[in-house]
Amino acid sequence: MRKVVVIGGGPSGLACAHRLAQEGIAVTVLEAEDRPGGLCATYEKDGFRFDLGGHRFISGDAALARKVRAWMGPELLVQERRSAVLHDGRYFQYPLDARDLVRSLGVRENARAALDYMRPRLARSAPDRDFESWVRRRFGDYLYDTFFGPYTEKLWGRPAREISADWAEERIGLLHLGDAALRLVGLRATPIRTYARRYEYPRLGMGQLFDRIAEDATEHGARIELGMRVTGFEREGTRIVGVHGERAQGGRVTFAADAVYATSALPEIARQLFAVSAPPAEVSAAASRLRFRGLRFLNVCLRGEGVQAYTWVYVADGTRRISRIQEPAKRSPFMVPPGMGSLMLEIPCEPGDALWSMPDDALLEVGLAELDALGLGVRPRVVSSFTVRVEAGYPVYHLSHEADRARVLDHLCDVPNLVVGGRQGLFRYVFLDRAMQMGDDAARAIASGQMRANCTERPRVRASVPLEVAALLG
Ligand SMILES: Cc1cc2nc3c(=O)[nH]c(=O)nc-3n(C[C@H](O)[C@H](O)[C@H](O)COP(=O)(O)OP(=O)(O)OC[C@H]3O[C@@H](n4cnc5c(N)ncnc54)[C@H](O)[C@@H]3O)c2cc1C
Repeated sequence: MRKVVVIGGGPSGLACAHRLAQEGIAVTVLEAEDRPGGLCATYEKDGFRFDLGGHRFISGDAALARKVRAWMGPELLVQERRSAVLHDGRYFQYPLDARDLVRSLGVRENARAALDYMRPRLARSAPDRDFESWVRRRFGDYLYDTFFGPYTEKLWGRPAREISADWAEERIGLLHLGDAALRLVGLRATPIRTYARRYEYPRLGMGQLFDRIAEDATEHGARIELGMRVTGFEREGTRIVGVHGERAQGGRVTFAADAVYATSALPEIARQLFAVSAPPAEVSAAASRLRFRGLRFLNVCLRGEGVQAYTWVYVADGTRRISRIQEPAKRSPFMVPPGMGSLMLEIPCEPGDALWSMPDDALLEVGLAELDALGLGVRPRVVSSFTVRVEAGYPVYHLSHEADRARVLDHLCDVPNLVVGGRQGLFRYVFLDRAMQMGDDAARAIASGQMRANCTERPRVRASVPLEVAALLG
């Protein structure tokens, strides 16, 4: 019987394993963490539940949505999006709302925004390579300096001039920021049609969906090894014949493999394969330029219900370290014990930097001080807190990311029984529905023996439109 190894038990790996198991193919998932779900896992402490950043399920794929509803049954809630940008002590409804903006900005700022918006449109000419020029040129200095510039630089931890214009094109193009700018100056008042206002959410956090999928895959015969970090490959010629894993509690194991679906980080997959057979120098140089931005989540458990009017708030101010404030109970009241509340603060950072390495209690002090300064003080209500670190939060779209990614992926196509996918594997900012579709596609390719199709017809990956909008602000 053919043996398939799936690296990573996130949405993509689990979707692949589920389909393979359903088709009666022997599949083993190797997941480094102690739980399934990847970036969609939910963490629990004393009845308080926190996602990694707060997730929403929205998909244009009707078949996938049906499957998710069947998995969750009555455990799936339907919620309304309530989000805002907090800037200079004022809340701007997000998605932008014309009347709210006009009211909040005041006459002088509206006039500046309008003038700035008109000027660059007239001057537009050559294509822009980087995020900053792209946004400034199309939408003016006011919108850039107020919202997009400071937020983008905080999120990525580097100057927006070092971030590819692809990021803006993929995200802002779909956001119809021109439309938003017209709203900003009060020239258009119809509702923004591309914004998804409603989303589905499991009662006990997004991780509940992936616990359920993992359980169902196991019932169909899949084996899921948690706490098993993949460290390398065994090759025979061009093929992979084994995957080396290291248990969290110690001990090494090799899993025999006829086919592999890898959803771990692309530069890591490349390095592990290169350790067995060295690639051309330009391929390893390209792999070394593919970097991820890390995230630290500060989860604060509170006495008493409710903190803010919104489910999540973007903190545009570049001098604050918090990028987003989430209130989990606004997604589902079951995310907190009765009568209690919580906040989750998202803090972008780099593995190994000061924020990443800061002890939990020091980070709590940073978070509480910023909340005080933002007018959202909760100090007297704090019961406890904990933090979770994520190394591969966002693939960094550096200026040559597309060429570097293509070079590495093309090289990996020389391995005939390897399919690379998912958000980390393809080095693409995709959402959970797209990651699941990729896993499903990979399973079909593996089951039918058409794995090379993944190499010759690799599509330019795009998430569904409404979620692209969310991506712009993180
Ligand atoms: C802050 C934030 C908010 C988001 N919000 C939304 C949202 O609202 N809606 C939405 O649809 N999407 C959202 N996303 C995106 C969503 O989380 C991803 O699209 C999805 O998790 C990708 O699934 P994946 O399986 O491709 O990757 P991941 O979820 O990253 O899973 C990869 C798995 O591989 C494992 N792994 C890595 N290396 C190894 C190794 N060497 N050995 C073994 N295992 C390994 C990891 O531990 C992980 O479990 C958000 C992402 C972030 C960061």
